[in-house]
Amino acid sequence: MTKLILPDLDRRKLLFGAAALGGLTALPAAGLAQALPGDTPFTLGIASGDPWPDGFVIWTRLAPKPLDWHSGMSFAPKGVSVGWEVAADEGFTQVVQKGDVIAYAELGHSVHVEVTGLKPLRPYWYRFTYKGFQSPAGRAKTAPVPGQRLDHVRFAAVGCQQYDAGFYTAYRHVAEEDLDFVFHYGDYIYEAVYGDETKKPRHIGADEPFSLDDYRRRYALYKLDTDLQAAHANHTWWVTLDDHEIQDNWAGVSDKYGTPPEIFLLRRQAAFQAYYENMPLRKSSMPRGPDVQLYRKAVYGDLMNANFMDTRQFRTDQPCDDGFKAYCQAAYDPHQQMINGAEDTWIADSLRHADTRWNLVAQQVMMMDLDRRNKPDAGAEPLYNMDSWTGYPLAQQKMVDHFHGLGNVVVLTGDEHQNFAGELRAKGREGPALAVEFVATSISSGGNGSDSRAGTDILKSHNPELVFENDNRGYIVCDVTHDVWRTDYRVLDYVHEQGAPVKTRASFAVERGQAKLNAV
Ligand code: FE
Ligand code: CA
Repeated sequence: MTKLILPDLDRRKLLFGAAALGGLTALPAAGLAQALPGDTPFTLGIASGDPWPDGFVIWTRLAPKPLDWHSGMSFAPKGVSVGWEVAADEGFTQVVQKGDVIAYAELGHSVHVEVTGLKPLRPYWYRFTYKGFQSPAGRAKTAPVPGQRLDHVRFAAVGCQQYDAGFYTAYRHVAEEDLDFVFHYGDYIYEAVYGDETKKPRHIGADEPFSLDDYRRRYALYKLDTDLQAAHANHTWWVTLDDHEIQDNWAGVSDKYGTPPEIFLLRRQAAFQAYYENMPLRKSSMPRGPDVQLYRKAVYGDLMNANFMDTRQFRTDQPCDDGFKAYCQAAYDPHQQMINGAEDTWIADSLRHADTRWNLVAQQVMMMDLDRRNKPDAGAEPLYNMDSWTGYPLAQQKMVDHFHGLGNVVVLTGDEHQNFAGELRAKGREGPALAVEFVATSISSGGNGSDSRAGTDILKSHNPELVFENDNRGYIVCDVTHDVWRTDYRVLDYVHEQGAPVKTRASFAVERGQAKLNAV
């Protein structure tokens, strides 16, 4: 057994972390008294997700010793019973739903309660009980009714949270934002340590995960972070995954080691199960073997048709041996795909039939057709990121062509560990941009960062569609109104230590009908 290093956490902070959040998730006095003994099973916090107009999922996972075998739970056939309740008020004086749910050993003692019968577009509070212990309370918000007239929708986009790369101070700030929901674009965990481990502010102390139990413990380590717990406790999330939940740059049935597909799929199955166990997902996103249904949508009133995509599971392998490369012939192979036919039909229909003011395409990897040359001696041939949409040029064209004639599409992206904003065209097509793309930086991946990455001037000279770049850590906040979509780039100056304040580095407004970024 690999020796796991306990995270640098303050026991008091773990227990009181959520309660320290300005009252929103404050535990009632009785709850605190019960949570005090050292073996509370609620060490990984609580979460809510997939909000619908009548409810949402509430999640927790029993883990009295989160980094031990079985997270310190003894296995019992038929699982153990966990109590849950949802209240209309923070003090839990008006409980509107409650029940018991079985936490199965087969699912790592996680529970996913799909709460129904609630009112649209309002906050609720929820908590769990197990053997006399009470969990911290979380706040969850239902979605509005489709078509309902709204003044605005406000949400954050977050992701890329390599634990060893930095502290989750950005999540502490996300927790305090006024939001309808949080979108996570993936890289919730990292399977490996990237960069010089001796310079890391935190340490993983474990090898690359391959088994279900390996992945479970990786999630446990990440989810012990009280800043991350606070962001879950205060907001309802729409989660998607990218590559590092399984392995760096996996694509469909291919990993980067050239493992036979039938062998890699065993690992994919274990990683998908651990992902489901640790995320506030509906039963419709429970994996079946090595497959999982993660692309899905939500309609936010009359304002926003939100589409959450899966750009990993159905891909063909990256062409031209991956990396930042000049095109080889394989990039234009008509069999290359980023999404499959079913997802393509789904997104095309969703965009075409939306009767909202805006269409959100929330996904993982860069859609802009960026030439990545950023050095003076980079040569005469453009270099493309084979792991992004542009590595699949025919798929990129097909996807962006779906935006034609809409004038209301906003693409949200992660993966880059850098902030970008730009105007999006189908590859090789002339004429005005068809959408705008906001690329959100990382919560921690990449470490402290800087205001601008070396070579950005050269990068911009090759890519006139690229309007903005910044290399700090943070997240973005989108405020969507009838005629204007506003995006704020919220950044921190450092993550190697805790306590960095957050500031707005740049803001852009998009007027509906014009795929154009206006600095504000
Ligand atoms: Fe990442
Ligand atoms: Ca990624």
